[in-house]
Amino acid sequence: MSLPPRFVEFLGSKGLAHDPAALAAYDGFLERLLRTNEDLNLTAVRDGDAAVSRHLEDSLEVAPRLSALAPREVLDLGTGGGLPGVPLAIAMPAVRFTLVDAREKKVAFVADAAHALGVRNVRAVAGRAELLAARGAPLRGAFDVVVSRAVAAMPVLVEWCVPFLRPGGHILAIKGERAEEELTEARSALAALALRVVDVTRTPSSTLVCLRLEAPVPPRFPRGPGDAKRKPL
Ligand code: SAH
Repeated sequence: MSLPPRFVEFLGSKGLAHDPAALAAYDGFLERLLRTNEDLNLTAVRDGDAAVSRHLEDSLEVAPRLSALAPREVLDLGTGGGLPGVPLAIAMPAVRFTLVDAREKKVAFVADAAHALGVRNVRAVAGRAELLAARGAPLRGAFDVVVSRAVAAMPVLVEWCVPFLRPGGHILAIKGERAEEELTEARSALAALALRVVDVTRTPSSTLVCLRLEAPVPPRFPRGPGDAKRKPL
């Protein structure tokens, strides 16, 4: 497969590198994602051109907003086949990305792909958010930003994300057209977790919600596996 010229223009328009090494990494990642899709059910989008916009471009729309936060450590929660984490890691080689998913097979795919493509700033970790960010766990409070796409409704998502953040850290959630309604529905969750809405930005394919953690993570979070979904805040 080779990437269409409009993707190279897209990278330029976002101020992202489009040297041969970066293009080979994007191309190799998409090729692996589509090839492995059959076995792992990684993504619903199978067609090459649609995959470029749905996966690469939709993920990379986050890059300018993420860069503005100047993070060192970023976590992608519920990365699935590596989205948005792998494209962002290719675009931002000086930032360390930790990609988390509850499904071990998906994490193995991400780790193999990153290794094979020479994307060295990615580590992939298998586990549920509720356990990986438990009190005393190494990933708790370790991140400047948590990014996430298509993982859970806002009240559940923020409860899963917050325990990974240092105080003052940010959540960047890639949401759909209902982002504003989702924020309204999450009002009590945002208050319980000391999250403030920084901004909501429309991109061509999604809505980007930026939240800031205004206080240390309350010790009662995360609740146990499944609790956030069963009894949303
Ligand atoms: N972000 C990817 C995948 C979305 S599918 C993309 O945009 O394509 C949602 C993913 O979240 C699944 O792979 C699922 O295994 C993972 N997930 C759901 N609940 C989780 C939890 N509590 N902890 C970790 N991963 C979770």
